[in-house]
Order: sequence, then C-alpha cells, then structure tokens
Amino acid sequence: MQAHQSQRQDAGIRRHEAWHTLDAEEVLEALQTGRGGLDQAQIAPRLERFGENRQRRVAQRSGLRRLISQFDNLLIQLLIVAAVITAVLGHFLDAGVIAAVVLINGVIGFIQEGRAEQALAAIRGLLAPQATVRRDNRRQTIDASQLVPGDMVILEPGSKISADIRLVTTRGLAIDESALTGESVPASKSVEPVSAEASIGDRRCMAYAGTLVTRGEGAGVVVETADATALGEVTAMLSSVESVTTPLLRDLARLGKRLAAIILGAGAFTALAGILVHGFSVVEMFLAAVALIVAAIPEGLPAIVTITLALGVQRLARRKAIVRRLPAVETLGAVSVICSDKTGTLTLNEMAVRAVLLGDGLHRVDDKTLALEAARAQEPAPASVVDALSRAVVLCSDADVHANSEGQVRVSGDPMEVALLHFAKAQDVELRALRSAHPRVDGLPFDSTHRFMATLHGTDDGEGQVLMVKGAPEAVVPRCKQVLGVDGTEPLDEAAWHRQAEAMAADGLRLLAIARQTAPGGVDLDDPSRIDGLTLIGLVGIIDPPREEAIAAVKTCHEAGMRVKMITGDHAVTAAAIGRQLGIGDDERGITGEALEAMDDEALSRCAAQHSVFARVSPRVKLRLVQALQSQGEVVAMTGDGVNDAPALKRSDVGVAMGHGGTDAAREAAEIVLADDNFATIEAAVHEGRVIYDNIVKSIAFLLPTNAAQALLLVVAVLAGWMLPITPAQILWVNMITAVTLALSLAFEPPEDDVMARAPRSPSAPLIPRVILVRILIVAVCMVAGTLALFARELADGRPLAEARTLAVNTLVLFEIWFLFSSRRLHTGILNTSGLTGNARVWLAIAIIVAAQLVFTYLPPMQVIFETQPLGPGAWLLAIVVSLPIILVAEGHKWLMRRRSQAR
Ligand code: ATP
Repeated sequence: MQAHQSQRQDAGIRRHEAWHTLDAEEVLEALQTGRGGLDQAQIAPRLERFGENRQRRVAQRSGLRRLISQFDNLLIQLLIVAAVITAVLGHFLDAGVIAAVVLINGVIGFIQEGRAEQALAAIRGLLAPQATVRRDNRRQTIDASQLVPGDMVILEPGSKISADIRLVTTRGLAIDESALTGESVPASKSVEPVSAEASIGDRRCMAYAGTLVTRGEGAGVVVETADATALGEVTAMLSSVESVTTPLLRDLARLGKRLAAIILGAGAFTALAGILVHGFSVVEMFLAAVALIVAAIPEGLPAIVTITLALGVQRLARRKAIVRRLPAVETLGAVSVICSDKTGTLTLNEMAVRAVLLGDGLHRVDDKTLALEAARAQEPAPASVVDALSRAVVLCSDADVHANSEGQVRVSGDPMEVALLHFAKAQDVELRALRSAHPRVDGLPFDSTHRFMATLHGTDDGEGQVLMVKGAPEAVVPRCKQVLGVDGTEPLDEAAWHRQAEAMAADGLRLLAIARQTAPGGVDLDDPSRIDGLTLIGLVGIIDPPREEAIAAVKTCHEAGMRVKMITGDHAVTAAAIGRQLGIGDDERGITGEALEAMDDEALSRCAAQHSVFARVSPRVKLRLVQALQSQGEVVAMTGDGVNDAPALKRSDVGVAMGHGGTDAAREAAEIVLADDNFATIEAAVHEGRVIYDNIVKSIAFLLPTNAAQALLLVVAVLAGWMLPITPAQILWVNMITAVTLALSLAFEPPEDDVMARAPRSPSAPLIPRVILVRILIVAVCMVAGTLALFARELADGRPLAEARTLAVNTLVLFEIWFLFSSRRLHTGILNTSGLTGNARVWLAIAIIVAAQLVFTYLPPMQVIFETQPLGPGAWLLAIVVSLPIILVAEGHKWLMRRRSQAR
C-alpha cells in the first residue's frame, strides 16, 4: 500500500506525502510525537526547519492592473477623448493640461486606493488565526503561525483549521471543506486510513487547512504546514483579494454615467446654439463643449469617497471594531435594530458562583470565601452532596488545571467553568488529583442545541464508569429521575425544582444543573437524546454582572432611534432580569425560543417587533428573527459567536462577531469583528458609521455646486454670445486642485452634536436629500452670478481677457473657500466659534489653497500654462466682497429649513 509513497528525512522526522494512508499510530511515530503533543523543546527546531505556518500571500492585484483600473471610468474616458480631439485641432496646451490632469487623477486614485487596500489588509492582519493545541500534555491556545508538524491540534465546533492534520480521535466530527473541494455538505470524519487514491474530499481521516469544523470534536496531529498544505498548493487559484468597492461607490459610478449623458447633451446643445445663433466657429464651439464637459465632471469625487471610507475604517479599528468588508461602514450608519448576545457582550463574562440549590434548599455562597451559607433550615449544607457537586463540576469541564512554576494550582478556560473550578477548590477539592484519578474516557461537548455537556470517567472504586452532566436546568432536570440526598437518593419533584430555579433566575443568576449517573457498562454518548435516568445533584447559580459601559451604550442607542434586542441562550427569567438592569425590555418577561419556534412567520414577525428579550434561542430561530425584522424594513446588526450563528450573521445587514470569545466560523461570516467583544463597541461603530456617511455627503454637497457653477458659467456665456469666462485648463485646476484639497478636509470633520440623537438613515433615502440639492443649486447660481459680474466688469473696464479670466477663477475659488465653512454642517449653523474653528484641517486646506492661488496668479510658468495674469489689490478686494456673502446665503437656507422643519 505504501509502495509509491515517497519518504523524506527532516529533523529526524520521517515525512510522507500520503498521510491519509497511514494508521494514526504510524503518523505519530513518524512525526515523533504522542497524543499528549510535542514537548516544548521539540518546537523551536521544527519551527526553524519548517518555518512559520503562514500561507504565501494571496496574489495581490498587480500595481499595473490597479493603475489601469483608474481609467475604467466613463467620465475619465470622456476627458481622454476630449484631450485627443483638442490636440488634433492643434490646441496643444489645452490638450496637454487635460491629459496631465487625467494622469494626475489616475495616479492620485492609484496611490489612495493602494493605501486604502493596505490599511484594510493591515486591519485584517489583526484577526490572526489561533489554534488550540496540546503541548507538554497541556491544552494551550497559540498563534496558528506557530504550528509545526507533530503538534497535536484540538478541534472544536467553529474552529478554522490552520494546517493539514491527520486525525487521531473524532467524535461526531464534521468539517466544512467547501473552501477546498467546493462541496457544501460538511464531510464527516473518522480515524481510519483510506486508500492512496482517495481524493481530498474522500480522505476522511484528514482535516485540511482552510476548512471549518461544523460539528463534533476531535484531535489530530499536524502533518503539513504553510505552503506544503493542500490549501497552500491551490492558493494561486483563490484570488480572494477584495477590491475596494462599496454600494456607495457603485451608486456614484452609476451617477457618473448619468452625468456623462447629461453633460454630453448639454455640451452638444450649447455648441449648436453657439454655431447657429451666434455664428461661432465649429472649432471654437468644440472647445467650449470640451470645457463644459471638463467643468461638469467632479473628477476628484471617487478619490474623496475612497479616502473618507479608508480613514473611517482606521478610526473604527482604533475603537476596536475591525471591518472585514468595506460596505459595512456605510451600512453601519443605517442600522435600526441591534440584536446582541448577552454573555460577554452585554455582561462582563466575569463569573462567580453565588448560590447553590440542593435537595435541602437554597444556599447562598459567600462572595469572598465561596463557602456555602446555611439554607432556610439553618442547617449547614450536607457535606456529601456538596462534595459530589464539586467533583462533578471539576470533571465535567474543559477548563484547564495546571501548576505554575511555584507549584500553585492555576485554572484557565471558559469563564463559567473557571468559576465552577474556583468554587470546587474552595470546597477543598484537590483539582489535579481528582482529574488524574478519574480520567475522561469519553465526552459529549456543550452545544447550544442540546444545551448540556456530558463526560464519562473511569472510577477507582470498581463501580465501572460514571457519567457527569452539566447544563441548562430545562435540558438536564427532565433527564433526571431522582435527587441526591444525604442518605442516598430521593424522589425528584420536577415542578418544585423548576419553581425554585425560576426564583434564582429572577435575581439575574445564570443557572446550571449538575447531575451524574453511575454507568457500570459505560454510556453511548453518540446520541444525546438517549441520556436519561440521571441523579440530580443540584443547581448552581452564577452571577455575570452587566457591563457598565453597555448600560450607557444601550441608552445612547435608544436615543439614536435604534432598538436593542437581547438574543440569548440563557434562561428567560435570567435574561429578563439582566435585561432590566441594562435597560432592555423593561418589565418584560422575555419570550423563549421554544415559543417562537412554534409560531408561523407572521406571528413570529409580530413578536420580533414587540419584544426585546429573547431567551433560549436556537441559531435557527435567530435566523428567522433577523429575516422577520428585515421584512419590516429594519436594518439589522446581529452579534454571534458560535458556528451555528453563521447563517444569521450572514443574513443580517451587519454581522458582528467576537474577536476573543467567538469561533472562527462566526468571524468568517461577519462583516465586523469586535476586538473587545463589547456591546459598547457596536454603539461606537454605529456612531462612527454615521459620521463617515455624513462626511461623504458633506464632501459631495461641497463639490457639486462648483461643478454646476462652472458648467452654468459656460452655458450662459455661450448662449449670450460672450467669451468663455474660464478655460478648460483653468476649470481643471479648480476641480482637481482647489475643490479636492478643500473637500478632503471634510473627511476629518468631527461628529455633529446630534449624530446619535437622530433617527437612523433610511437605506432607501437618496444620497443627497432634496433640501441639500436645492442648496447646491442656489449656491451654484450665486457663484455664477458673482463670477460673471466681475468678469464682465473687468472686460467693460477694458482689461485684457486673460486678466478677467484670472479674476473669474479666483472669485470662484474664494466662493469655494467660504462655502467650505458652511459645508461643515449639513443642517446646523456654523456662524459660531465651534463652527468656524472646529476642524483645523479646514484652515490648513484653506492656507494651502490661498498659497496655490497666489502661485497660479503670479508665478510666470503658471501664467504660461494657465494663461493667467497678475491681479491688483482692488481686484482681490472686489472678489472677496462679492464672494463672502455666500456664507450668509447658505446659512440662511439652513436657517429657513430648520424653521420649516420645526414648524411641522
Ligand atoms: P449568549 O447567547 O447571550 O451568549 P449564553 O452564553 O448564556 O448566552 P449559551 O452559551 O447557549 O448561551 O448557554 C445557554 C445555557 O447553557 C446556559 O445558560 C447554561 O445553562 C448552559 N451552558 C452554557 N455553557 C455551558 C457549558 N460549557 N457546559 C454546560 N452547560 C453550559
């Protein structure tokens, strides 16, 4: 069977290329490792030999392709055609300037897009994959790049596999290999070797890098890392580089096409009118049409939008929200409902046992010593039952127990299990001794569908094996037929236990039922539904206090017109109690997933709208809830951490996964990952999303009047039979240099006071609201009137055309400068201290542009290129006096609009 396998000798390790044909033991031997993993001393030499476990970078979009794509824009192509024809007509200077601007525009776009791509890549790097391994016989979580051949990797639902692995144990393990094989049904796994000819999809004993565990658990030894993995070999095929595009950018591209049609039409009409009515020459009119095209196109807009988005992504990362998909930045600003998990997101996930319910009644647990207080009967808790409970929580647990260098016992792992171990330790249980006396022989991992965990252990008293179970009371108590008492077992009054459980939950305690069963003949854990006839030991109540910052964030969300819904796997009464502390669903009892499951879509939709606390919700119901809310027109942000949450995360408008606590599967499905798992970060992200969107709208609202004004200037001039007040080259200067520089400062605009005091933006609302559109037109008309008036006055005074044009351009730029102030806020006034000084970048941009205009006007080479002439102080003063009132016009319009909306 192994005849055609090639074997290599590396670091004393035998290497194969057909690991799937070997027995598990053969693989372990070949890689000089064992089921307890490698020793620390073995790691460094292997890392040295095989290198870090990193995939070769997925082929980046080549620089040349990115540069070429800058010209893949109808408006830019229109400019190129205009430049060529202008050159053919012998107007080389104009043609040269247009060509130069097209090139400069392309290079700026290229550089900015490159930066945006880099920023995104760097941010994605924050999500470095992790792996859980056994090393030195201890469970550890390490950076996946540190995996070496021979490492024993532990696989759990939701983990993403980072290296090629030969499985050595499996329990119901199923792996989604679609990334590798395209097969969407998860492949179930086993440890038996397969034939050498088996294709990747049929190698049941292997788990490959890049795939995801969907069910069950297992362990396996790393056989290949980095580029030697099957994924490494096909990496070239997966060019998964996301391009920097979003719905907004696509909308803008569509707008560009429409603009191009309108501009061409207007150009043709104007040129025809000039030829037919005023007898201008065809060449003259062609140049005028070119000028019009150049004037009307907002060349700098795509660059500004991309930069604003990229800056936003970086700001979000600083606030601990890592954006995985760029469009999410825009969607965030429109979120109207946030559906959040409870544990760890709204609560601290700092757990501690606070109460224990045993057969004799409820015992409070001292929050310092963790000692049990007497129950109602004033009698101490029965020691034998407390001991049984403590032993069960130590054994039925994945938390790790180890000794530190000083020999002290340390525990780590899931916060709830850690809390239980602390509790057991306080009851004088020797954690390590107990674990080694009763090794786990089999286990059923916790799963949010069956809601309990079970482990089977060997015993040293000759009774065979014992099964330990812990889980949600509703899941465990019905599987019990008796209760553990001081003198053996007693009959179980299920209803009474449920009643007392509810009373504990009403204090906001998270509940766990603990049970056991002696099983002389062992238990089949493959089918959770067959676990039955257990002996209930007791219930443990654990506190997990709400996060202070989450309470404040929920309040802010409500003020911002968003609704916050808690969707949790916890008990309904516990969830409602915590909800009340957080200000979610005041006085609501909370509706259970079970009740929702039974409803048809219509009833569920009503419940989704009315309720805020959803408890014991299964991933399937979570998905239905998102769909129901979306069908009501809501924009839903949904958090999730488990592998089963992936469909709901994908379906929601903004899927939010946890950077710490969640699974890789959830992170892959999400748009945003919270580096700190904190609800307050979602609120911060929405806030940031709204600011980014506002700033984009502000930039557009600032840029468009200049384009409209220049186009109008030309139309009016041609129709009236005048000289063009501004040449194509000058127009490009205004569009590319002044407008873009000024507009860019708006990308840094700080949030307006009311960002989180207004309702979410409707996703169907137009990018530029009608009120703003009207303002754009008014401002454009004022710009035209002022500029034309000064231009005409200069000519009437007998000044040369070039000087009149220079004044016209400077007047336009001054209009832009003043209007920039007003554009800082869409609705509120800026004639106050914060309005004028709130954004230092605005002043910086103005300083740059003033300097640029002086160069444009007085520097001889610029005078040649742009046909400008020096202006006297009187001309400047006149330009300032004519343009400054634009602030009053724009602010007056805002004021009127505010009054109108107040009156409504
Ligand atoms: P959220 O979805 O808000 O994070 P959650 O973490 O409480 O809520 P689940 O993890 O689905 O939701 O847990 C549901 C219930 O299952 C818990 O209330 C607890 O009773 C039980 N449970 C949770 N984790 C374990 C575990 N590791 N072992 C046994 N039972 C568990």
